[in-house]
Amino acid sequence: MKELSQLHQLFLESTGICTDTRKLKKGNLYLALKGDNFNGNNFAVKALELGANYSIVDEEPEEQNDHIIKVEDGLDTLQKLAAYHRKYLNLPILSITGSNGKTTTKELIREVLSKKYKTVSTQGNLNNHIGVPLTLLSMNKETEFGIVEMGANHQGEIASLCKIAHPDYGYITNFGKAHLEGFGGVEGVIKGKSELYNYLIKNNKTIFINYDDKIQVEKSKGTDIISFSEGKNASHQITFLKADPFVKIKTEDTQINSQLIGTYNAKNIAAAICIGKYFKIPAKAIKEAIESYQPTNNRSQIIDQNSNQIILDAYNANPTSMKAALENLEAIPAKNKIAILGDMFEVGDTSAEEHQIIIDLLEKLEFSNMMVCGKNFYQTSTQEVLKFENFEDLKNYIQRNNFKESTILIKGSRGMALERILEVL
Ligand code: ATP
Ligand code: MG
Repeated sequence: MKELSQLHQLFLESTGICTDTRKLKKGNLYLALKGDNFNGNNFAVKALELGANYSIVDEEPEEQNDHIIKVEDGLDTLQKLAAYHRKYLNLPILSITGSNGKTTTKELIREVLSKKYKTVSTQGNLNNHIGVPLTLLSMNKETEFGIVEMGANHQGEIASLCKIAHPDYGYITNFGKAHLEGFGGVEGVIKGKSELYNYLIKNNKTIFINYDDKIQVEKSKGTDIISFSEGKNASHQITFLKADPFVKIKTEDTQINSQLIGTYNAKNIAAAICIGKYFKIPAKAIKEAIESYQPTNNRSQIIDQNSNQIILDAYNANPTSMKAALENLEAIPAKNKIAILGDMFEVGDTSAEEHQIIIDLLEKLEFSNMMVCGKNFYQTSTQEVLKFENFEDLKNYIQRNNFKESTILIKGSRGMALERILEVL
């Protein structure tokens, strides 16, 4: 059995860590993980054939080979190796968690900080007990700033990710109704996400907050705070201008016209501005970074198609982000507005209630056309909203109706994959 320091040395001599032979690059250190579908141990020899320098396994190796190293537990080794590497790196790390907007905020902050520092951030959505270690291991001695997105769907998860990443700075995007099932309601979400604050307070680190969010103000007490607010009493005053539908923001010294839609993105942008200012990025560079950022992966993308303006937000949905997206559609100056919504998953005991709340909101907003799809929405009661139990029925209906010159919001949980509806719009 090798010491952690020896494994770290092998990692430094490699071209990076890899846990999936399909993505392996020559000289990688292969580490076997056991998932629901695959047992990485079965690919240890294959990894060496593909050019890995060593393979780390936690079961009896398929063959005796000097380049196969056996450890007690692969996942535990990955996490310990990442924690060890984080100390070796000696750079500032900013952690981002929250119910919604983590990835968008992370990407905006990365664009801003990259104007001055060699910044490495979480790739895509790799934000869990595997993704966080992989993120840390993607940084090297040349990296000047690290940004780590932390996701969680139950208590204790953020605390354990903090023990691996040891953040110096933190920001929580919001406390919303996401993963209610695992957290045990909204109070549970606040407690679970606040684990980041607790870590930072205990270690005398710095917290960025939205001063207009009472829970953030309350829960972050006890250490250095840098804040932004629409009012005057925060470190940075940031004014949200009317979205058209792109979010516009005024700061103390400039106006920023983003390519993001959704009023909720105003806060995400404000956080990136506030953090940029704290790290002394010039106002002009902050403006450039934010204005050139375009969202990807079905996250609040605008698509012009067949005379329609489509707001594709099919990446994910939960009660808070669903409500935010509908309010945003309401705020857009357009004639024909259409909402096409899919079920929200992982809502837990309150699922029936939360789907009904969205239906009630739709009835209040009275868009020109309102359609919902999925088993949960199908069980709600409504006079005005069209319900479809499955995707095919929704698709057939939309195909028959041939909507034109409308602003169309498409939003649902990942499992609904509502972007498939684009084909018939
Ligand atoms: P995940 O849990 O999947 O990692 P995330 O927290 O990284 O999600 P994003 O991918 O940035 O979040 O955004 C997902 C969706 O959440 C957006 O498309 C939008 O509908 C909503 N959203 C983004 N920011 C906010 C916010 N500050 N408040 C409420 N909802 C938001
Ligand atoms: Mg994310």
